[in-house]
Amino acid sequence: MLIYIHVPFCRQRCHYCAFQAQALGRDVEPVSSQAMRDYVDTLLMELAIWGDRLAGRRVETIFFGGGTPSLLPPKIVGIILDRLHKIFTIEDNAEISLEANPESLKGTLLPSQYLACGINRLSLGLQSLDGDMLRVLGRVHKAQDSLNSLLAAREAGFVNIGVDLMWGLPGQSVRHWLQSLKDVVRLAPEHISAYGLTLEEGTVLERQCRQGLFTLPPERDLNIMFVEGAAYLESQGYLQYEISNFSRMGYQCRHNLGYWQGLDYLGLGPSATSTIDNKRWTNPAHQKAWTEKIAKGQVAGHEEVLTPLIRVLEMIMLSLRTVRGLSLKRYKDMTGHDFLVDHRRMVQALHENALIRIRQGWLRLTPSGMVVSNAIISNLFEQTKKVLTEPLPPLTAEPVQSLRVEDAPDVRAVVWPKA
Ligand code: SF4
Repeated sequence: MLIYIHVPFCRQRCHYCAFQAQALGRDVEPVSSQAMRDYVDTLLMELAIWGDRLAGRRVETIFFGGGTPSLLPPKIVGIILDRLHKIFTIEDNAEISLEANPESLKGTLLPSQYLACGINRLSLGLQSLDGDMLRVLGRVHKAQDSLNSLLAAREAGFVNIGVDLMWGLPGQSVRHWLQSLKDVVRLAPEHISAYGLTLEEGTVLERQCRQGLFTLPPERDLNIMFVEGAAYLESQGYLQYEISNFSRMGYQCRHNLGYWQGLDYLGLGPSATSTIDNKRWTNPAHQKAWTEKIAKGQVAGHEEVLTPLIRVLEMIMLSLRTVRGLSLKRYKDMTGHDFLVDHRRMVQALHENALIRIRQGWLRLTPSGMVVSNAIISNLFEQTKKVLTEPLPPLTAEPVQSLRVEDAPDVRAVVWPKA
């Protein structure tokens, strides 16, 4: 099982952000915030309730996400991890990640304190190394903070550091994006996530773009940024293992791999989603509503039952986002059907347009296919819904396996399936 802990606090709201997060302000000491104290109390209560129900389950990864989890003092993180260890069977080599914003780490002992309390992977939200871009995004940190935080984490002894970047920013050119990647590669993180900017309705940036203050790069440039960016990272030894994720060998984020493989996960904190034993539910988004619910001893509720058909659709969507792709055998095991027969016409059209490759029982998107992955996946969805009818065989989850280089399909060798 995976555990996700949502920390719903930030220094200030970034201009592009539509997440559920409370802005504490630039100068407020997090521990002096009553909202933060209440949050921690409720989180521990929520954990205690789950402790009664799921005690002893094996946990492979723990992820503190947000929000800005690095606003949680290491002592509190240590207490939470301690409770988790008492309730669950945390694997010896469990991956325990914490998302951190650069400004919260600079000039502090926080990295070594997080390391000491059990965090073994840091995910730094750099987003950009360009001061002007950071201002447009409304980030609280400066470019120099990013460098300092990464160095501080390294000096503290972190050997697994990921960085988050964004591309397709207002006014950004292809050359600028590729230069950003070069600058980041020089910092030698183990993992790089590169997400295209999405303009979310109701955000400051969306309004500014609507008013003509900023212009996003044209579609053609976005496609080049994606394809050339991925090619550059691969040339530097960062293997693409998912549409937006690259890592040095052996440093894929196991937590995310677990999601993509359909493992059970327990989400704690406001707005966190859980999926356990083929049931899914989401906590109330607002802290007050979440607190009230937990105070009444209620967790879960309004569960969605995941039918075998829903799990098949999710498996298609999630696995096609990975470079390994969709296992045709797994589809057959889950449905009793042959994917290539069920989707014959579409597979043929995608193949003719070099958007997919099929090899040794795996179907994967090519780099061009990844550019239009949403359209491909939604078309496959519709076709799958048409051809599959319940009842389907009961489901079992596969264990998380680390992707290895030799598992990556060879894009040059295309073996077209026999009709
Ligand atoms: S730090 Fe992250 S969660 Fe917080 S406002 Fe910025 S983008 Fe949103």
